[in-house]
Amino acid sequence: MPVPFSVAVELQRRLGFAPPNRVLSAVLGEIFSSRTAVASSFGPESAVLLHLVAEIDAATPVLFVDTGRHFRETLEYRDLLINHLGLRDVRSVGPSAEDVARLDADFSRATWDPDGCCAFRKIAPLKQALSGFDAWVTGRKRFQARTRLDLPVFEHDGDHVKINPLASWTLNDISDYVAVHRLPPHPLAIRGYPSIGCAPCTSTVRDGESRRAGRWRGSEKTECGIHRSPSYQPEKSSP
Ligand code: SF4
Repeated sequence: MPVPFSVAVELQRRLGFAPPNRVLSAVLGEIFSSRTAVASSFGPESAVLLHLVAEIDAATPVLFVDTGRHFRETLEYRDLLINHLGLRDVRSVGPSAEDVARLDADFSRATWDPDGCCAFRKIAPLKQALSGFDAWVTGRKRFQARTRLDLPVFEHDGDHVKINPLASWTLNDISDYVAVHRLPPHPLAIRGYPSIGCAPCTSTVRDGESRRAGRWRGSEKTECGIHRSPSYQPEKSSP
C-alpha cells in the first residue's frame, strides 16, 4: 500500500534538519525499520552513505541497479565496498535477458534513445525492487546539480517516502568524511571521473566543468529518470 504524502511532510518537519546519522538511525531503527532499502550506484561518493548505513545496520537491504552497461571498475568497487563495510544484503537488480534481447539487442540504444535505455535498464528494475518497501534512501546532495538545489531530506515519490540524509552536505563534508573513515576511492574517481554512471554515457570532466558534465555529454539529458517527479512514467519501452 502506498505511504501517504503526509508521512513525508511530517518527517521533513521533525527530522529535515537533523544530521545524517540521526536521520538514518530514526529511519532504519524506528520509523520504517526493515521496510527501508538503500539505493546505491557504487559511484565515487557512495561509500559515505553506505558507511553511515553500515554503522547502524549492515544488514540493511542495498539495491544496486546493474544495467549491464557499467564500467568493470564499478562492479569491482561494489564488491570491494561490500567486503570493506561488511554489507550483508546488497542486491544487484537489472533488466531481464528477455528485455535486453527485445529492447536493445545490439547494445546501441544508449546512443539513439537514452531515455528509453534508462527506462528499461534502470527505472523499471529499481521500481520492481522497491515494490516491497515503504521507504528508500538515496545519496543525493544539493551541490551536485542545479536540479537538486531544493532537495529536501524527506520527500514523497508517489508510493514511498524517499530519504536523502546527505542533502545538505557539501563536497568538503564528503571529502572530510572519506578521509576520517579512510574509505577506499572508486578507481575511476582518481582518473578524472567525479560522477560515474554507465560506461557509454560517462566521460571524464575537465577543470572548470561541473562534476556531472561528463554524464550524457553532448545531450540535453541530465538525469536517468529514477529521481524524476512522482508522476513520471518510463516511456519509449519499445524501439
Ligand atoms: S545511463 Fe546510458 S547505458 Fe545506462 S541505462 Fe541510461 S542510457 Fe542506457
